[in-house]
Amino acid sequence: MSINIAFDREHIWHPYTSMIDPLPVYPVVAAERCELILENGQRLVDGTASWWSAVHGYNHPILNNAVTTQLSKMAHVMFGGITHPPAVELCQRLLQMVPQNLTKVFLADSGSIAVEVAIKMALQYWMESATPEKQKLISLRKGYHGDTFATMAVCDPVDGMHDMFSSLLPQHYFLPAPQSRFDGEFIESDITPLEELLVEHHSEVAALIVEPIVQGYGGMRFYHPEFLRRARALCDQYQVLLICDEIATGFGRTGKLFACEHADIAPDIMCVGKALSAGYITLAATLCTDEVARGISLSAAGGLMHGPTFMANPLACAVANASLQLIEQGHWQQKVAMIEAQLKQELAPCRFSSQVKDVRVLGAIGVLEMHSKVDVAALQQQFVELGVWIRPFNNLIYIMPPFIISPDELSKLTAAMRIVTSS
Ligand SMILES: *Cc1c(COP(=O)(O)O)cnc(C)c1O
Repeated sequence: MSINIAFDREHIWHPYTSMIDPLPVYPVVAAERCELILENGQRLVDGTASWWSAVHGYNHPILNNAVTTQLSKMAHVMFGGITHPPAVELCQRLLQMVPQNLTKVFLADSGSIAVEVAIKMALQYWMESATPEKQKLISLRKGYHGDTFATMAVCDPVDGMHDMFSSLLPQHYFLPAPQSRFDGEFIESDITPLEELLVEHHSEVAALIVEPIVQGYGGMRFYHPEFLRRARALCDQYQVLLICDEIATGFGRTGKLFACEHADIAPDIMCVGKALSAGYITLAATLCTDEVARGISLSAAGGLMHGPTFMANPLACAVANASLQLIEQGHWQQKVAMIEAQLKQELAPCRFSSQVKDVRVLGAIGVLEMHSKVDVAALQQQFVELGVWIRPFNNLIYIMPPFIISPDELSKLTAAMRIVTSS
């Protein structure tokens, strides 16, 4: 039976698209290792890891087994007043991996919700303190933290996808995006705006929220670790919590297990998602310190006021647990280093293209920043004809493949990127 594309086009929303004139969609019927298999049998090498998540590739026997084994016991059970082995094992594993100061885990059902919970934690933490007026957040321009209302309010207010809502959102403080490149010199003026803002307004600020090192959907920018180190120190000095949104960067993507390790810092609150459940079932988590958890628990509400229906879904926890076990084996380190070296070499020629403004590589992320916006539909079609799955947006053509990608498959992706930018 063939997929009814006409029905899809008429009735089903896809991410960030119009219902009147939607971008084309490609029917995928299966996926295996690093390949998506289209309805017509064509195989595409996947450059997206399904938006950072499928780090071990598709249809992985160990991950499949984790889901089916758990399925034969229990697909779901409420988390209010109940606990279960997959949740406990997952949180034990997770706490072994994250910076040591993080000791408490809230299991959320998506990245945006994990960020909502992080914001709620930060606000609730200060409510019962000596400084309850600390209720504003500081965020970076070019930042992206999700699509729900509280998270939209900390996304880039101008270039983000949510500027049409700005009058309806709580008003937070925004700092210029850091200009120092990850591998360049640290520019002192990058940190001055944060310092000035904190000097003047720290008494109203609950938390600074950042994507550590890699600003993802706000522009695929890689900034200098010194910015993060200095931001951590300023947060300590002015009693402001630091929230690190590691949803895109967590679990090895940037070459470190977590991107905050590039700067040797630990946040007070951390969000993980995407690769957490290896692209199988939606799952995210918000972690915090003893101190933050204590403050929240002493508040008038007596606890953290959040509890999704599908909190700690056992199937999702089971597969996340299996995925973290694979990560623990440590092969990702060598694989990500190899991907990084190959991306650097094979994307370098793109610098000579008149369309390309910048080429950036960090860990298993390769980015071509173009001078102008690309025609997503046309480019996507060209990529499919070249046998690869790459999904550009704005003026960015970028890849973050599964870590298990072979050198030949990776070359296919980079060759396609060179071809589409070759004029
Ligand atoms: C994807 C992403 C989110 C949102 O996660 P969803 O699961 O899509 O809600 C939040 N923050 C960052 C940094 C992300 O990359």
